[in-house]
Amino acid sequence: MEVKKQLLNLTPYKPGKPIEDVKREYGLEKIVKLASNENPFGFSNKVKDVLQKQMDSINIYPDGYAAELRNAVAEHLKVSPRQLIFGNGSDEVVQILCRAYLSPSKNTVMAKPTFPQYKHNAVIEGADIREVTLIEGAHDLEGMLSAIDENTAIVWLCTPNNPTGVYISEEDLLSFLSRVPNNVVVVVDEAYFEYVVAEDYPDSISLLANHPNLVILRTFSKAYGLAGLRIGYGIASEQLLQSIEPAREPFNTSKLAQAAAIAALSDQAFVNESVLLNHEGLEQFYRFCDQHNLTYYQSQGNFILMFHNSFTGDEMFQYLLERGYIVRSGNALGFPHAIRVTVGTAEQNKQFFEILSSMLK
Ligand SMILES: *Cc1c(COP(=O)(O)O)cnc(C)c1O
Repeated sequence: MEVKKQLLNLTPYKPGKPIEDVKREYGLEKIVKLASNENPFGFSNKVKDVLQKQMDSINIYPDGYAAELRNAVAEHLKVSPRQLIFGNGSDEVVQILCRAYLSPSKNTVMAKPTFPQYKHNAVIEGADIREVTLIEGAHDLEGMLSAIDENTAIVWLCTPNNPTGVYISEEDLLSFLSRVPNNVVVVVDEAYFEYVVAEDYPDSISLLANHPNLVILRTFSKAYGLAGLRIGYGIASEQLLQSIEPAREPFNTSKLAQAAAIAALSDQAFVNESVLLNHEGLEQFYRFCDQHNLTYYQSQGNFILMFHNSFTGDEMFQYLLERGYIVRSGNALGFPHAIRVTVGTAEQNKQFFEILSSMLK
């Protein structure tokens, strides 16, 4: 019973303490979780009805090709249905890409810190990991280009980057793509795409025509509010997707998730409202930070990384936890003096500010 040696160096995903345990331990009635960038406004009302309908046929396997969802997303994005691959969350598309392209003789290039699943899956495939430190929260694209060699199989760009919220501009992405060798797969993870307001954020889909090595990742987990159902997707050239398709499990997305995603997609008003409220919430956070000696990166996502120069992330996390607010300590994310906080409802944000300001006083 010998597991692959690379598994010995990995730790399984460490879930936060169960909410019920936190309540009991600290004698709290209410817990607000601003730790995983879920949508604090929930999800579209249209989703519940379609889920109820699907319940009558959960004894039947889902459509492994997700044809109906595929057509809906294709139409929404103005791409061919064959330019899409669906996953049990975009996490699974990351896994599929790693299974398809990485092996012990290959290497993969990514930012540090960034979304941990790129590295996690790449390590399992035995690939060599090349991490290039962020500059001011942004990808060091020149550094990443220099890290690429003839054995590089995948480069990961997370934009806006989790956990910093900093994005890659259109100009920088174009320049990067024009210099990456065309046998290297470039994955652009746009999990927070819907939230972005920056005007020079690239229209990455329009780049697919000239860059057959480009894969764009999107998800229904964040702005669409379906994190609990697990559905995300990749957009790429037909040829690339055809070649990785054998690495996908035949029934990898459930019929509940597929139906919910179709309904969620049809309610852009819900998404637009969430995006607007998120933007207002971010402004609340910026003002709070400016007034309380906290520094931060301007975020294009629904979260903010905020730094204090004396308190550690763990200390801020613990203080907030004991008062019913769960955030992510930056310690585990590569920023020991920061916390990453999901932008909540206006009410949640206000209470969060009250608690944190009492600590910082
Ligand atoms: C949340 C997140 C994902 C994962 O999304 P799922 O579709 O829920 O698997 C992917 N990438 C980034 C950067 C994220 O923050």
